[in-house]
This record gives sequence, structure tokens and C-alpha cells, in this order.
Amino acid sequence: MFKISPNVKLPLNLSKGSYSKRLDSAQKLTDKFFDKISGAFIEKDISPDVFVKNIEEVLPSKVNYKLESSNGKDLEGAVILCTSEQNPSEISLYKICFPTNPYDGKISIYKTDSFMHEMFHFFCEIFNPKHTAKAAELAESRFRYYDDFFYNEYIYNKHCDDLNNLKDVLLPDILNNMPISEKVIFLQNCRYKLLEEVKAWENGHKYGIKNQEIHKDLIPEVVYVDDGSEFQLKEKLKIVTEALKTVFKDARNGK
Ligand SMILES: [Zn+2]
Repeated sequence: MFKISPNVKLPLNLSKGSYSKRLDSAQKLTDKFFDKISGAFIEKDISPDVFVKNIEEVLPSKVNYKLESSNGKDLEGAVILCTSEQNPSEISLYKICFPTNPYDGKISIYKTDSFMHEMFHFFCEIFNPKHTAKAAELAESRFRYYDDFFYNEYIYNKHCDDLNNLKDVLLPDILNNMPISEKVIFLQNCRYKLLEEVKAWENGHKYGIKNQEIHKDLIPEVVYVDDGSEFQLKEKLKIVTEALKTVFKDARNGK
């Protein structure tokens, strides 16, 4: 079981309440951060130092994080939980990764969708330390196969676009060999990840467009901002939520 260092979560008085309340708090912090960071674009690129200064100004308490360029990595962006070398079972740092300019390491206004997407994930994590620990634990457990394989291949993947096959074949296949308790943990984790992913895309898309509108003076042309709809995340969220309901119903009926 992973421990969560106090350095990677907000104090309890700020992070208590229901999941939806905490999601709401993460959204408010994302909105506040956008207002700040948008104002920091005096030119079309800002330095990572300025970016960090703006994070610091909205964080309600001290949190350990560091920015890392996703350039050359196999991903557009991510928020990665890291353990310390001294204590491999304690999560003590977030790495917030998104693209930077390859020539000067600065952060471009054109990447607003990417960094706002990751900042939403980051704010979700700090308001949901238990959920974070659970996800980390799952990643280390025998669920890892399901978690990595199923989520990456079928859920967060544009190529899995046959939703009926997902609902009627792929998901039942994965659930088939699990006892009820595992089904619940697996589906709940999947549902939380999807809920947050849907909102992360919404934030990235909304603010990616907004920042270009605000700074028309700085940029010669407006660029397309991806809304992530090709992943069909909302539709997949419905399928996972329905599957979870069915598991609870079967459990009540003693199936
Ligand atoms: Zn995401």
C-alpha cells in the first residue's frame, strides 16, 4: 500500500467532502489558474519559471511538483506520481508533463489546450489523495494488466471505436473471471479515470480556444484545438457506469 506524503496533497480542511465536491474544487482552481496564466502571456511564449510562479499563486497550500517537458516522450502530456528514492512506498512528487518549444524550452500559447488539460489532472490529484493512492496501488497490483491493457487499448484509444463490441464483448470478457469485489474496484477506477479525462479534455479545449481569442494581438493565425471527441470518452463512460450498476444489482441478487 502506498503512502501519500503530506507534500502532495492539500490539508484535509480543503480536500474533504464528496467526490463531486472535490471535482468541483479542482475545476474552480483550474478556472482561477487559467485567468492568471492567460494574463502572463505578454509574448506568445512564457518561461517555465513564470508558469511555476503562476501555479504557486493559485495553490492554496504547499504541494511538491515539478514541470517536465513531454518532448521526445511517447505522450502528449501526463501527470505522473513519483515516489522518493529514500522511501519507495511513499508518493512525494508530481511530475506535470506537457510539450514545450524544442528550441528554447518555453511554453507556447498554442499549447494552452495541452497544459490546461494536465493542470486540471494535477488539481484533481491534489484534491483526491485517497483516490490517487488507490490508483497507484492498482497500478502495482495484479490489476495492472487490466488497468494498463483494458484502459489503454480500449478506453483511452481512438482505434477502439466499436462501442457495441466494447459493451457486449470486450468488457464482459475482462470482467468474466473477476470476483465481485474486484469488478467493483476495477470498474470504479475506470469510471473515475474516465470522468476526469472527459473534464480534462473539456478544459483543454475550452481554454485552448479562449487563450487564442484573448491574445489575437500576439498570434498571426488561430490554430485548430482538438476536443478529444474521437476517443468517444463520454460514450465509454456511460458503458462503464452501466456495467458498474449491473455488478451492484447482481451482488444484491446474490448472483
Ligand atoms: Zn488526460
